[in-house]
Amino acid sequence: MNLNLSGQTAIVTGGSRGIGYAVCEALAKEGCDIAFLYASNAQKAEEAAASLSAYGVRVKAYCCHVEHEEEAASAVQAIKEAFGRIDILVNNAGITRDKLVNGMKETDFSDVIDVNLKGAFHMIRNVYPIMARARAGRIINISSISGLMGNAGQVNYSASKAGMIGMTKSVAKELTARGVTCNAIAPGFIVTDMTEKFTENEAVLSSIPVKRMGTPEEVGALAAYLCSPMAAFITGEVIRIDGGMAM
Ligand code: NAP
Repeated sequence: MNLNLSGQTAIVTGGSRGIGYAVCEALAKEGCDIAFLYASNAQKAEEAAASLSAYGVRVKAYCCHVEHEEEAASAVQAIKEAFGRIDILVNNAGITRDKLVNGMKETDFSDVIDVNLKGAFHMIRNVYPIMARARAGRIINISSISGLMGNAGQVNYSASKAGMIGMTKSVAKELTARGVTCNAIAPGFIVTDMTEKFTENEAVLSSIPVKRMGTPEEVGALAAYLCSPMAAFITGEVIRIDGGMAM
């Protein structure tokens, strides 16, 4: 399937590893230039940028903590200047601070909301005028089935991911008439650094009808499809990719 993304520029937050890297790779394979953000691991970001460049597209990594409004604004401005256009935004950066409610500190709650939810808001707000003016664009928010089902030990995380779903639908209602679609992807257990402690966990595996965890590449392929012209009729949607776990 040719998704026809050549000549476009995508911003992917948290693109240096895990699901974000796989999204960058899926888009780069379709000819899309990539500007990705990372938070702290510059060496990993450099390695990721080098691997993505092998697809013959322009790639640049930016250190940007999305929870800080000014950093998000400067990153979007720098990307617009360097690449000349912004067609796609994938809000993927996310963190966990899992604890039962009675042991959860105020900062465990606010840090997760700030990065996962407010960070996505900052990025959307900064690309909004660019996409609205171009009357074209794709925004994808990486939520989670935790935001659909809730999860013990994740009151902060599930609240942030449920918030992203509300944000997705509101942005879709504001922007779809101006040619910009906005959708959420809700992954289940995907093999990344975030979930490495679960890969051999029998209870987790038996709760997934497909009987395995998903791969970042499976999420990347879905994101690339949603970014393509073929997905122009999908907006305000939440697509689970979870091996059937939340059905
Ligand atoms: P990961 O392997 O932990 O990677 C996180 C990425 O986000 C890294 O590139 C990291 O950069 C970056 N990042 C962290 N904090 C950031 C910040 N404040 N600002 C900008 N970038 C930041 O995560 P993952 O498992 O691939 O998950 C990616 C997304 O999918 C998250 O939103 C997560 O909630 C969601 N998700 C994951 C799963 C799963 O099973 N893995 C399931 C459902 C949803 P540094 O390396 O520089 O810190």
